[in-house]
Amino acid sequence: MTTDHEFRYLGYAQEVIFAPGALARLPDAVQRFGWSRLLLVTSGSARRAGQVEQLERLLGGRLLAVYDHVQPHVPEAQVAEAVSLAAQHTVEAVIGLGGGSPLGMAKAVSQGLEAQRTGQPARAAFPTEQPLVPVIAIPTTYAGSEMTAVYGVTRQKPGGGTLKVTVTDPKVAPKLVVYDPELTLDLPSELTASTGINALAHCVEALYSVTRHPMSTAAALGGLRYISQALPRCHAEPRDLPARADMLAGAHLAGASLASAAMALHHGLCHVLGGTAGVPHGIANSIILPHAMRFNAGAQVPPPPAQAWGELAAAALGLPPADSPIAAAMAAADWVYQLVGRLGLPQHLRDAGVNEADLPRLAQLAFESRTVQNNPLPITSPAPLEALLRAAW
Ligand code: NAD
Repeated sequence: MTTDHEFRYLGYAQEVIFAPGALARLPDAVQRFGWSRLLLVTSGSARRAGQVEQLERLLGGRLLAVYDHVQPHVPEAQVAEAVSLAAQHTVEAVIGLGGGSPLGMAKAVSQGLEAQRTGQPARAAFPTEQPLVPVIAIPTTYAGSEMTAVYGVTRQKPGGGTLKVTVTDPKVAPKLVVYDPELTLDLPSELTASTGINALAHCVEALYSVTRHPMSTAAALGGLRYISQALPRCHAEPRDLPARADMLAGAHLAGASLASAAMALHHGLCHVLGGTAGVPHGIANSIILPHAMRFNAGAQVPPPPAQAWGELAAAALGLPPADSPIAAAMAAADWVYQLVGRLGLPQHLRDAGVNEADLPRLAQLAFESRTVQNNPLPITSPAPLEALLRAAW
């Protein structure tokens, strides 16, 4: 083995159950784990869709409390409320039901409770340490948080405004993940499309990640194949269960690639656009992804595999071979841009409520982000970020 083929990544012990109707298997799984005191954190849409009632019926007396108004980007004040509700009921596990925000909230509650109960910081010293209060994740969007050991919380800054901070800790990776495509049948069109592009973005950034490895690359390519086929089908026919199942399988692979390879420019910019400019996460993804792909078209990442990321991506999207790796990456970026348009999503930051005068400040914040600093092409000043944001505006 040459030094070119070195890699290192963390894997997490998780039980993953995937099936139409899988929600009905939750009571058995919870029983096997021996959890009898549960908190559910979710957003208003799950209550309106009848999913909270479904869980209440399935879990009966084991479900002690429900926090059902998690806001996008997980405001810190809400974390304190949910931790206190969980502490009051001495819960043994926290269920996150919904998109990336309720799932992030479940992770934040798990950490908050552990710190409260042990009086110690909840962070794992070793990647194999297990949480005191594990997370159960039941995703209803394609954002992929169920597979990862990361969550974001939005903080009020002392001088005004908000900032999103992310926490990475192996302990918060959900121990039980239940994927039920039936829960996504009523996912509204814009959320289907935009969280689907978020999943696509995980795959793309995993392919050019500075820490990519054979497993993350395999997951990313599999994810791209599923998503590129299934997302247009879900958009055209929202209640097509096989299409929804394919799309959720793609989101699972995308989440797996996100979980084990460092993300880059695209994710760093989207966090700033969400946490500071208030752009919904999937919309930020839809606007930024083609620009991030073009920016990184010439990026070379260590093998394996030896093939350039753009060629890998273009082939997985079903595009014909291009003349060079850069041309392949550009073709893949154009394909994504056109898909975003076909799905009826915004393609410009100005259409997502971002003020042009804010672009330099957003570029500066992104420049300070660790995720942006993981970009395969080094970013040594805020200037290229501002140029990218202007192109996306
Ligand atoms: P979200 O969880 O913020 O939800 C957005 C909206 O979708 C909410 O109004 C919610 O009520 C609604 N919704 C969710 N599921 C629905 C359904 N089935 N039917 C109807 N409405 C539904 O959105 P998201 O895009 O899933 O997640 C974005 C958040 O997750 C961001 O904060 C992002 O940073 C984070 N995220 C984290 C990770 C990670 O690995 N930690 C990965 C991806 C995203």
